[in-house]
Amino acid sequence: MIITIDGPAGTGKTTIAQQVALRLGFSYFDTGAMYRALTYALMKNSIDFKNPKKLEEFLNKFKLEIQRDRGKNRYFVDGEEVTEAIRTPEVTKNVSEIAASSKVRESLIEFQRSFGKQNNLVCEGRDMGTTIFPWAELKIFLTARAEVRAQRRYLEWKDKKMAASPEEIMQELLKRDHLDSTREASPLKQAEHAHLIDTSDMSIEEVVNIILSLIL
Ligand code: C5P
Repeated sequence: MIITIDGPAGTGKTTIAQQVALRLGFSYFDTGAMYRALTYALMKNSIDFKNPKKLEEFLNKFKLEIQRDRGKNRYFVDGEEVTEAIRTPEVTKNVSEIAASSKVRESLIEFQRSFGKQNNLVCEGRDMGTTIFPWAELKIFLTARAEVRAQRRYLEWKDKKMAASPEEIMQELLKRDHLDSTREASPLKQAEHAHLIDTSDMSIEEVVNIILSLIL
């Protein structure tokens, strides 16, 4: 069985998808991490992704390894662990522009679909229900008010000692939402038949229980 969870940043996708997967004994797959790892590697190697030849060369060589470790995923690019490095404000600032490239998206489709082949899977991202797994048995689309999403991200970053004001975070989230939902290639949008859940005033547990009740 495949469950897709899509929605903008700060709606709780990652925590909720992990909890649903844990409760069901399913695999969990975070596609945002893939776009982040790719962005990190492009930045680290100073590759201009707007140069089609350079981008193609890079995509042909790019290899992401994902390891499961006590219920969490760890990410490696060329043997380097990038699990933490892909969450920095610098990567976050650049990821949506790179994820809008149709060449980048095409290069990841088969890899992403391969996760659905043998496994019962909960996967999260922006286009899981629309493009990657349109045949998924259960589709969820999460939303939340922008100020709630910005506050959640602020608290998360504060915990990790990453400096940014709530106002800066709100601007960054809105910019990313805009880029993600207006791009031509696989934009962020609610899939047909996806269940819409507004998480603004709900706990993680409440959202997880709603999703489980849609299956059982
Ligand atoms: O989910 P997360 O915030 O980590 O995703 C980072 C970025 O990766 C998103 O803002 C979006 O630009 C891109 N992304 C995407 N398609 C996905 C998952 C993420 O374009 N399926």
